[in-house]
Amino acid sequence: MKYVSSRGTAPVLDFGDVLLAGLARDGGLYLPESWPSLAPDALSRAATASYADTAVEVMWPFVEGSVDHDSFVEMVADAYATFDDPDVVPLRTLGDGMVVAELFHGPTLAFKDIALQLVGRLFAYELDRRGERVTIVGATSGDTGSAAIEACRDRPGIEMVILHPSGRVSDVQRRQMTTVDAPNVHNLAVAGTFDDCQDLVKQLFADEPFRDRVNLSAVNSINWARVMAQIVYYVTSVARLTGGEAPVSFAVPTGNFGNVFAGYGAQRMGLPVAQFVVGSNANDILTRFLDSAVMEMQGVEPTLSPSMDIQVSSNFERLLFELYGRDGAAVAETMLAFRREGRFDVEADRMGLLAEHWSGARIDDAATSAIIAEVYRRDGLLIDPHTAVGLGAAAACRLDPSVPMVALATAHPAKFPDAVEAATGVRPALPDRLADLFERPEHFVEVPLDYSMIRATIESYLS
Ligand SMILES: *Cc1c(COP(=O)(O)O)cnc(C)c1O
Repeated sequence: MKYVSSRGTAPVLDFGDVLLAGLARDGGLYLPESWPSLAPDALSRAATASYADTAVEVMWPFVEGSVDHDSFVEMVADAYATFDDPDVVPLRTLGDGMVVAELFHGPTLAFKDIALQLVGRLFAYELDRRGERVTIVGATSGDTGSAAIEACRDRPGIEMVILHPSGRVSDVQRRQMTTVDAPNVHNLAVAGTFDDCQDLVKQLFADEPFRDRVNLSAVNSINWARVMAQIVYYVTSVARLTGGEAPVSFAVPTGNFGNVFAGYGAQRMGLPVAQFVVGSNANDILTRFLDSAVMEMQGVEPTLSPSMDIQVSSNFERLLFELYGRDGAAVAETMLAFRREGRFDVEADRMGLLAEHWSGARIDDAATSAIIAEVYRRDGLLIDPHTAVGLGAAAACRLDPSVPMVALATAHPAKFPDAVEAATGVRPALPDRLADLFERPEHFVEVPLDYSMIRATIESYLS
């Protein structure tokens, strides 16, 4: 499989190159040159196959030519053996007939684990094949750092440095990062805000001598391999619900658009999907776009679902490339205008692809709390605020009640205990394997908000 950039001018690469490159050299995002098709009997087999077996079958065309088959089978099996449910992504039917797909059974209780547990292994494999080492640096406001750390811990060839704003992440979030005892994992608590941390990371990437010296890299959400790994649970969900004999709809609490774009990819591979419902919180750039065909930036407001507090959705560019008939020059022009003017619009004839299948709803914090409370009252089930946004959007946008509607549950309720307790009066407990989180020793260093000191700290880890 070859990969092309959404902006049309970066070199065409194979999977291994795309994995390590992340962003394309022309500023675009990589997509497969063409969408492979699911085998005619893939869905009937996936109805009873293990998650890992289906995962290998669905992803193989994307990695073929870059990864050895036996190694791939082993990496996929290892990645999903870290999940605490035998189905990996189990389905649960609620009292109102909605189906919830639980994406949070991985090591850090959030859906990022599904992609990152595999991507960490693929990174180490590709680096070993090339005899290279990388330093992965990232900033986190608390939600995503632990998934990246768990993905890369103890992996040869990878040194991992995560910056978080000191005193500004919750105790659970900090401990999920800092209690990891691995020689290649380094947590820096920066005396500053999340924006300061992000700026520092940008500065590190802009510092060419440093970047080359340490072979700087990232595993951020625009990496194609993350999207690829997320295609799988759309396939397993449809297979288990209808065997592929009838379509299914999906409601997706959306931030950077990686999750729901994976659903689009599954549909392009032949998966029968009736509707994609995008759920937003008050930061509703995407649902405004789906209503108006105008993408317009606004400020970011903190909400109960912080993983969706975004100003722009970076993976949307991949869908734009498809809407524009894979015209990279048109995408490049649109994205430059977006950066310049903070807005762009898509002509009506290009929106045709979306009109049939896509809708969105904005669920504010009050509605989010009400949904958490309602699901607890009716089903005795605690759900997290992101999941509640997806369920609220599903209810608002569902067109045909005879089509199963799957709402993706993207985080375990114990990941956001304050919001869940405020809505239900019940504080969700951490699962058994994390029950001793507050007794484990922490490993991190406090650093001042000082670029050269932070750079020197990182370099000290590599000698
Ligand atoms: C990252 C995340 C999202 C948003 O997913 P995108 O792929 O960025 O759209 C939603 N919920 C949770 C809990 C997340 O961690």
